[in-house]
Parts: sequence; C-alpha cells; structure tokens
Amino acid sequence: MKKPECIIRFPQGKLLELRRELLKDSSREAFAVLIGKKREIGEHCIIVVGDVYYPQPSEYINQSRTQLRMKKSFIYRVMAEAQTRPNVDTIIDVHTHPFTDRAWFSQQDDVDEINYFQFLDSEELPFSYGSIVLSQKTGQARMWYMNNLRPEYKVAAIKTQTALEALPTTENESDILDDEQKSRTLLSLGVDTMRRIIADQCIVLAGVGGLGSVMAENLVHQGFEHLVLIDNDILDHSSLNRFVGGTFDDAEKKRPKVEVVASHLQAINPQANVETVFKQVDSLEAEEKMALADWILLSTDNHTSRYQVQKAALTYGVPLISAGVNITVRHENGRHVIVDRSGEVIVVRLGDHFCLNCLGRINLALLSAESHPDPEVRAKTISRGYVLGAEVKEPAVKTLNSVIGAMAIESLTNQYKEDMIHEPILVYESHHGLCMYPDRSTFSLLETGCASCH
Ligand SMILES: [Zn+2]
Ligand SMILES: [Zn+2]
Repeated sequence: MKKPECIIRFPQGKLLELRRELLKDSSREAFAVLIGKKREIGEHCIIVVGDVYYPQPSEYINQSRTQLRMKKSFIYRVMAEAQTRPNVDTIIDVHTHPFTDRAWFSQQDDVDEINYFQFLDSEELPFSYGSIVLSQKTGQARMWYMNNLRPEYKVAAIKTQTALEALPTTENESDILDDEQKSRTLLSLGVDTMRRIIADQCIVLAGVGGLGSVMAENLVHQGFEHLVLIDNDILDHSSLNRFVGGTFDDAEKKRPKVEVVASHLQAINPQANVETVFKQVDSLEAEEKMALADWILLSTDNHTSRYQVQKAALTYGVPLISAGVNITVRHENGRHVIVDRSGEVIVVRLGDHFCLNCLGRINLALLSAESHPDPEVRAKTISRGYVLGAEVKEPAVKTLNSVIGAMAIESLTNQYKEDMIHEPILVYESHHGLCMYPDRSTFSLLETGCASCH
C-alpha cells in the first residue's frame, strides 16, 4: 500500500458518531457525505472535517448488503449547501462494507468515484473530492486529483483528536511486552494504552524552555517515541536552575535548547526519534511539523507565539495542550512577598468549541503590544509590566515547572485511556498552601461564537 500523503482529520467525537450511525445495521451498506476544508503544507494535504450529512431512507435508490445507489437529489442537496459555506472546499463521501472486518475499495467503488470526480471536474465545481470506506473494524481513505486529465488518487490517513477514537491499524502491533525500559509504565497504564502511545504518535513541543524540557523528559519516560522540538533560543546560564538536561558546559558553548534536550532524550531512550527545529514557531518548517502532529504541547512564554501556535493547531485540526506557570512577587516595605505562584494546563481539542482566546488566556491587546513594530512602544508596554517574555527577567523555579510539566503529560496520557476523566483545565497553586483543582467556572463565562474556534 502507498504511504499516506493526505490526512483527513475529524473533530472530537465525530468519527465515533459517524461509525455508529453508518454501521448500526450490518445487513446493508450505508452512506454519508462529509464537508471540510483542505490545506496544502509541504508535500501533504490536510482536510479538516466540518459537518456530516446523512441521507434520509427515501434518498437511497438501492441499499443492500453489497450494493448502494444514492438519488442524485441527495448529492445535489449537499453540494448546494456546501457552496453556501465560506470555509468549505472539500467533499468526502463515506460508505460502508458492513459485511467485513477489514476495509478496502472495490472495483465498483473505483468506477463510481471516478465517475463522480469527473462530473465535478467537468462542471467546474469548486470542490476537492475524496472518499472513505468503513468496515466493522477499520477504514481506508483517499483523495482524488487529476493527473494529465486522468483521475488518480492519493492515500489519506484518517486521524481523530484522540487515539482512543482512532481506527485500529495493523501497523500498531509493535511488541512492547519484552521491552524492559517500558515494563513499569506498562504495568501502570496497561497494554492497550501503552500500544496507543507507542504506535504512530508524534508529539510536537512548541517551546522547549524550563517547562518544555520537563515535559519532553516526561514524554520519553512515559514511552512516547516520536517527538519534535521547536525553539529558537540558546541555553544560557540563567536557565540552568531549571532546564532539564542542560549542563554548565552546554551554556558555556551557547548550544540551542532543542539540541540540548534532544541529546538528553536520546541518552534516555536511544530508540526515540527526536527531531529538532531551531526556528521560531511561526516558521514554515515549524508549521509543517505542527500540521502533521498528533498533539502539540505549547509552553512558549509570550502571547504572540502562543497565538501563532494555537492558530496552527486550529487550522490543521491538531489537538493542543497548553501549559503555563506564573510567579508574581511584590516588594512591600523591604519584604519579598509572593502574591501568586501557580500554573495551569489546558486541553484544546477541535470540536470542543473553546480555545485559549475565548477562555481569556491569550490577550489580544497584549498580543498587538508585544508585536508592535515600534521598539519604543514595545519597551514602554514592557516597562509597564503588561508584556512578559524574553525581555523581562521573570522569577522561575524548577519545582513549579516540574509539577505543571508532569500535570501536562498526565493530562495527555489521560487522552489515551478509556477510564480516565478528561479535565480541560487543571490549575495548581502553591502560594497559599498547596492545591490542585479543575477549573470549571471559566466555562460558565465563555463567550459563544469565538472567531478562532467556531
Ligand atoms: Zn464499496
Ligand atoms: Zn475560542
């Protein structure tokens, strides 16, 4: 089989719903149409699924165990609606082979799809076209394109927000039972969860500083084997109070943080595939890595980069975990008073309908101040304390980073286990004693209709 060049990515819960609906009657094939938005990045195309249309029973001409015919009126209805939607340029039809466990496209499917694709092409309808076939257990997908006036297809991978919802693939069966290094984690998480973690999961860390380096180390210890580290910063001596894997010598040599962490991770697990991007998070290379990731872990220290990373995550439909810490100190009558010492972890999945913007975690006013082209204006807002970041020496300690970094990887691990409760926002405070709690009150204040995540 060809290697996937495209990804069809579903929002949270949508593939599960689609499979339930289409496969509930195993005595006959069923049909649905997905609409979505396609984006090209590097050599890949990524389609983010929006809505699903199910036909009425009366819109089938023929629906048997091995055959399916739809009325044209259904197809026209969907196309007409898709054309009115601003963010839709792709139609994907889905049908089932309910009589089998494994899924493959039949010769009849090829004929039907080529006919439909040629019809779209001849009518110059502005849609990309793809298809999915689902069996009881698995599925296959492809995107059609014209090559010298001949229809050809690219294999597409079907991806979901969490591995729990993903279709099983046979390639995931790497044998972990003999792996001594994973044996204790395996006892804790169980074989199924461990397999999901080790299978083709690629985790991108946007920001590899005091917090990111802790998360990276936790990921490798947890068993994740494919990591991409993005950061354009150099390790300096002031980071050595908290930077995991960094040595005095690394700081002397002014090594890039991504390199230092990568060598540390590979020393722990030589099997781990750790890629580095020594560039800003808004570079094309970083964007491509994020677009193809299964999760993005965000821990950069300013509003602009957090905004850019989340934008990539939402654009390409990649789920995101944001981690952040804060220490605020006041000097009163010569006394050093900690007024806030806390951190939080937020899980943002496509389809959950909230993001760092509408949760009030990214401040758009600060964002424009931070990126203000006039250095004088920028310096002024920084001196007023509105903008944190590289130019301000913030208090930072490893103990707080360690707690929040571990919380972030716990939250991530929970996304791979059926029996764990998903908490979108977890807060930790340690200035008035210690406490950790899920923040649910934020959701009652959530404004609807956020331009970023709806
Ligand atoms: Zn078929
Ligand atoms: Zn939002």
